Amino acid sequence: MPLVSEPRKTSKLEWCFLAILAASAVLSFVAIPTLVGDGLLHVWFLDVGQGDAIFIEAPGGNQVLIDGGPDNSVLQELGRIMPFYDRLIDMVMLSHPHADHLRGLIEVLRNYEVGKVLENRIPCDTAECLEWEQSKQKAGEVIEAGVGDVINLGGGATLRVVYAREADARASVKNAHDYALIAKLDYGGQSVLFMSDAEKKVEQILAADPNLQAKFLKVGHHGSKTSTYEDFIEAVNPLLAFIEVGSRNSYGFPHPEVIERLDDFGIKYYRTDIDGTVELVLDGKNYEVVK
Ligand SMILES: [Zn+2]
Repeated sequence: MPLVSEPRKTSKLEWCFLAILAASAVLSFVAIPTLVGDGLLHVWFLDVGQGDAIFIEAPGGNQVLIDGGPDNSVLQELGRIMPFYDRLIDMVMLSHPHADHLRGLIEVLRNYEVGKVLENRIPCDTAECLEWEQSKQKAGEVIEAGVGDVINLGGGATLRVVYAREADARASVKNAHDYALIAKLDYGGQSVLFMSDAEKKVEQILAADPNLQAKFLKVGHHGSKTSTYEDFIEAVNPLLAFIEVGSRNSYGFPHPEVIERLDDFGIKYYRTDIDGTVELVLDGKNYEVVK
């Protein structure tokens, strides 16, 4: 029997944001009316061309969008997944403020009600960043992420911030990828690791974590050869990998070396330039990939 089934009717769900810091404490509880899900965790790696946009629907129906891609194509993708009457996205996360991750989020804030914004504030003065500063004010709450923050998505699923480097507000950031927000989605015994555009430096820091393992990996930086190194793959030990990449992109992503590394480890991969939007469905134990 396929894992996928139709979402049920609307009702109220509890949504809470926990910050697990040194002493650990529950920061706040906020109730948000949203959809009741189908008891499964859905992750869509959206085909938005050359950029990242990942949509999550938790087992209880809460929805999270990680990055928005390079333009408004994310709206069309969301329109295919979300029912027309659902105009609320519970949380959007901006991993780092490069246009191919950010531009579509500005469009989402223009077109949807957004409960929370989760981001890592990085000094940035591009046109997109200036617009983002304005548009994110429409969200109910803007949260600056810290390592160890856990967002309870409901229905047993959590999103945990595993990497967020603080940037000095006055200093210019040489490579925003070193500050990218990295999150891990956990449900039952299954995890999905979202690597944003993280490169070797961040991978090396994360690889030192003995609990980094994740069955599913969204590879860093669209399959660039500066990411997804052997040591990192070994630490994550994924079964499946997902590459968000535009067809015939000018960067030559994904790099053949990365494909070779994945092949060497026997990791099956999906890429949005070839497979289009790819849906991963989890029930805490089993998985299904829907193309
Ligand atoms: Zn980037």
